[in-house]
Amino acid sequence: MKNKTTHPKYEQTLVIIKPDGIQRSLMGEIIGRYERVGLKLVAMKMMVPTSDLIEKHYTLDPEWRRITGEKTIKGYHDKGLVPPSENPLDITKKILANNCKYMTSGPVIVMIWEGAHAVAIVRKITGGTEPLMSDVGTIRGDFVLDSYKMTDEDGRAVRNLVHASGSVKEANDEIKHWFNNNEIIKYNHVQEKILYDVNLDGILE
Ligand code: GDP
Ligand code: MG
Repeated sequence: MKNKTTHPKYEQTLVIIKPDGIQRSLMGEIIGRYERVGLKLVAMKMMVPTSDLIEKHYTLDPEWRRITGEKTIKGYHDKGLVPPSENPLDITKKILANNCKYMTSGPVIVMIWEGAHAVAIVRKITGGTEPLMSDVGTIRGDFVLDSYKMTDEDGRAVRNLVHASGSVKEANDEIKHWFNNNEIIKYNHVQEKILYDVNLDGILE
């Protein structure tokens, strides 16, 4: 038996149902998708975030401004389009302002999901950032139709229903940003027996 801190089943990730997820009456559907794969909900709260909380959330990684700016500029070039600026920091300044407006426009639900490979599994279920390109079968592919073309024309954030941590490091930083330790519940879920038990010796009478 591996120890508690290293076994993959203890991995945690942060998910936020964004204001459009709540307004589209999709919170049950979204939670259900993470729940049915076998993940365990260990913390949850509903709130209207402040701009400060959102700006800090996106800039927990001091490199976020540069990395996201470069990724966005590459996205334009790959499509044969001219980006609004070749300076990554100009690009992310606008993205950050739009995201702050979007994420503070109404209530959100912030959650921690725990289970084997929680970060990667949640990203897979959530789908790619731009709904136009997200795979069918993912939350963003199945329930929303936004595109960067439209958001850039309209000068707003892409409405993609959920935020999900992008890496284990990002998840750990985001969990600390949104939750106190005493808000995270340690409990056993009965289905963990069938998901993780090595011997499966508790089923037959
Ligand atoms: P996520 O982890 O899938 O949400 O995506 P990222 O962490 O890469 O980006 C964070 C947020 O920045 C996204 O939810 C978008 O609002 C915005 N964003 C990222 N890439 C682009 C882009 O290429 N164009 C535009 N307009 N916004 C972007
Ligand atoms: Mg991200």
